[in-house]
Amino acid sequence: MPRPDLLQRLDVQTAEREHARLHRRLRTIEHADGPWLESGSRRLLSFCSNDYLGLAQHPTLVAALTRAAGEQGVGSTSAHLICGHRAVHAQLEEALAAWTGRERALLFSTGYMANLGVLQALLARGDVCVQDKLDHACLLDGARLSGAELKRYPHADVAAAARQLAAHPEAAALLATDGVFSMDGDIAPLRALAQLCARERATLMVDDAHGLGVLGDDGAGSLSAAKLGQHEVPLLMGTLGKALGCSGAFVAGPAALIEGLIQFARPYIYTTAIPPALAAAALESVRLAQTETWRRDKLAALVARFRAGAAQLGLPLMDSASAIQPLLLRSADAALAAAQALEHRGLLVVAIRPPTVPVGQARLRITLSAAHEEAHVDALLDALADLAQGSRVAGHV
Ligand SMILES: *Cc1c(COP(=O)(O)O)cnc(C)c1O
Repeated sequence: MPRPDLLQRLDVQTAEREHARLHRRLRTIEHADGPWLESGSRRLLSFCSNDYLGLAQHPTLVAALTRAAGEQGVGSTSAHLICGHRAVHAQLEEALAAWTGRERALLFSTGYMANLGVLQALLARGDVCVQDKLDHACLLDGARLSGAELKRYPHADVAAAARQLAAHPEAAALLATDGVFSMDGDIAPLRALAQLCARERATLMVDDAHGLGVLGDDGAGSLSAAKLGQHEVPLLMGTLGKALGCSGAFVAGPAALIEGLIQFARPYIYTTAIPPALAAAALESVRLAQTETWRRDKLAALVARFRAGAAQLGLPLMDSASAIQPLLLRSADAALAAAQALEHRGLLVVAIRPPTVPVGQARLRITLSAAHEEAHVDALLDALADLAQGSRVAGHV
């Protein structure tokens, strides 16, 4: 057998995906103005960003970024452990730890890297990592990277998780779950999982990428909403790129954990620290997310308005109290057709298809933001009503 050509093999895989009509396409956004995007010289009202609080273009963030870049330059010039760790990084870590009620926090360049870093630093061959089937891809990748045995339990099934832990009574165990599930919008059974982990002496990790800023009284996230402290959930991962409107991520927890991550988390050690100007913007964003409570109230009101309207139309709403409000259309073709029809009407909603979600569970992933107005939600509902009337969605409603 001749040696296979790697690029050719990739071409074949890409062609297969295209043939299955599951090919993904990049869209270039020429201009962004809150929820309004310009793409292909068309103005589109977006329902697909993760800017849940509408902070990404906040003038205070922009001013902080500009000022810090003027004073300190653009790049951090090095990894944290060399000379990239600036005072503003340290301030941001302190603010994040205080906000989430944790002893310390550690910045990572992205949430993807934070999850890889935590799982790779904590777990080793012979350990077991128990995860919800719908956990984000980077939690799965982190478990694979660690060499631990990965066990995935059916979505939100605490009894199944308990059986998986009980089957490995002598292995060191980590249970990792999304706080708010990124494609479904529902919240993990956090209190039951915390009780299970306490009983099984397993460590609980929560990825709160979509809960931070949105849930909890002061926006401190799904753990704050569930009244779970550092003792019950020692590992919290949060991102700066979603409700906080910036980019980057952090892990928060006991001081000893953070010290261990600094020593052993390779995606922390061997990479350039995020730009200090970005940390300065994120610091302002944390303050705004805490103090401008009207953003959370407005978002909650828009979510309620959308859910009431969609229920009235008999749309296949999923059970979600978060800013993520998916419509389950099931077939990938139906989801794609619906997204195209909406775009035709000037509304940008993405179709989420396999392999991001299981086969037969394609959906429109609608996300709402405090940057939206009631009229925007109503325009989306009108368009969805017309679609449901027509043939495209009707079979699935
Ligand atoms: C977006 C996301 C991540 C990755 O965060 P980035 O900062 O975008 O790399 C991790 N986990 C979940 C659940 C996410 O939704």
